Amino acid sequence: MADRIGIIGAGFSGLLSAYLLERRFGDQVEIEVWEAGDRSGGRVRTTPVPEVGASYEAGVAELYDIAGNPHLRRLIRHLGLRTRPLTGTPYFVVGDRVLRDDRMLEGVLGRRGMDRLRRFWERGTGLRPPADYALAGRERDNAHPWQRRTFADVLGDIDDPLCEWFTAMQCHSDLATEPPHTSGLFGMDNLLIDHPGYCTMYTLAEGNEGLIAALAGRVRSPVSPGTAVTHVAADEETGMRVSLRNRGGGRRDVEVDALLVTLPPAGVRRIRWSDERLQDAVAGHVRHHDHGTAYLRVTLLFRRRFWRRAFPEDYFVSDAFGGVTVYDQSPDDGAEGAGIQSWLLGGAPALEYASKSDGDIVAAVLNAVPGLSPVREDLLVRAFVDRWTGVAGVSALPGGVPLRPARQRHSPDPRWPQLQFIGDYLYDATLCGALDAVLYGVSRLGDLITAKTDSVADGAADLFGAGAEPGSSTPSSPRSAFFLDERRAAGRESAR
Ligand SMILES: Cc1cc2nc3c(=O)[nH]c(=O)nc-3n(C[C@H](O)[C@H](O)[C@H](O)COP(=O)(O)OP(=O)(O)OC[C@H]3O[C@@H](n4cnc5c(N)ncnc54)[C@H](O)[C@@H]3O)c2cc1C
Repeated sequence: MADRIGIIGAGFSGLLSAYLLERRFGDQVEIEVWEAGDRSGGRVRTTPVPEVGASYEAGVAELYDIAGNPHLRRLIRHLGLRTRPLTGTPYFVVGDRVLRDDRMLEGVLGRRGMDRLRRFWERGTGLRPPADYALAGRERDNAHPWQRRTFADVLGDIDDPLCEWFTAMQCHSDLATEPPHTSGLFGMDNLLIDHPGYCTMYTLAEGNEGLIAALAGRVRSPVSPGTAVTHVAADEETGMRVSLRNRGGGRRDVEVDALLVTLPPAGVRRIRWSDERLQDAVAGHVRHHDHGTAYLRVTLLFRRRFWRRAFPEDYFVSDAFGGVTVYDQSPDDGAEGAGIQSWLLGGAPALEYASKSDGDIVAAVLNAVPGLSPVREDLLVRAFVDRWTGVAGVSALPGGVPLRPARQRHSPDPRWPQLQFIGDYLYDATLCGALDAVLYGVSRLGDLITAKTDSVADGAADLFGAGAEPGSSTPSSPRSAFFLDERRAAGRESAR
């Protein structure tokens, strides 16, 4: 009889898990995906702007190409999606000045400040070589000297208040929290996003939600929108039972052999878990991992792309709101036609403004738009405000401190290894981390199914296309199972 697998959540993680399990096990498994919202995709959302026949990224704005971690890129290629590099030096707006290079930065920080900053970067990169960065969030990071220090504490080593402020501001939007609330290592990892030796960025040419559409188009199992999981009961006699509630209030229970939970901790907390031991184990998992923080995306459609000469790149960073990345998502007509600016507020300012009215939020952002003083409301065609808080927020400290061993991290109740928790909050709060988590959870489940049925798990052989990328590091367990299969397959291919 086929194994019945339930998947909670139809975001990137839930859909990718379903797709990989189908590919690997075919009709050996019977999968159902339950999604509380009306749409699939969760925090990956591309919103149309009909006035200009364009769109903006309300959630994920950039995909990361991490040196030595080719998995996301390989998935994108496997799905046949077109990409576009994202360029940004980036330019910084500090007060009323625009800084375009080191010389201008020195004008603000002074020579001593620049020296202190260089020393900080030398130390930070020395302690975090690219090969370690590619495996961020694994248990071995516990040995990093900045893992148990706060980012505020580590910034203090710069010993120059202005440089400390600048460095925190520089990565504030990526980090989505304030330096005292995260580790020095996670802070440094977010700074390194802008270091070309570690990471480059791209988007999907047809919009990032194309990733969700591509996965949803391949998943054959039923995906039920408007269906929230309210209760998971696991009993050693009768097994695992999931209670569902649909939009109309209708309820039904489903028995499953395995369950993948692909929600952030705030979502896990909303579900009732029983028996008591499972409830305690899940509560402990949430306590350790729940470092939820917020984003607020404010997108402005202007009649003219008036900033184009001052800010020719895909994004710039402003010191408003504690540090904010501003994406230029204008329609690509090459002229100074309509323009779209998308502001990603993170952390404390995002939380503070999220409770205000859209009008107040838009007014505050308009006030901060460089080159628009006094504010020219006549230039504004329309504004969009997307609040990402609570269940839809991100983690300020992925994996928690200390990072737990993978087995415990994904499977908090050792009696139920077929109950796997998956999510970006377990690794690095990005799609790359979500992908790492999926690969672990699905591999682990795969191993359990394989052990039970004694079948040869070979279906994953060419999961994301053939062979390892040149220069890619060998991913260590836990993420490796599928890709090791892939490399074996590539070996077979070349031997033929
Ligand atoms: C504003 C913002 C910007 C971001 N920018 C980037 C970026 O540029 N690059 C990057 O790599 N990452 C970025 N991230 C992180 C990225 O969005 C996540 O890593 C990724 O989307 C995680 O996908 P997921 O499927 O694990 O979770 P989610 O996308 O959160 O999916 C979980 C799904 O579960 C559903 N759900 C919740 N509760 C229940 C329930 N009880 N029953 C059933 N379904 C339920 C939700 O509705 C949701 O659809 C950003 C996040 C935000 C919020």
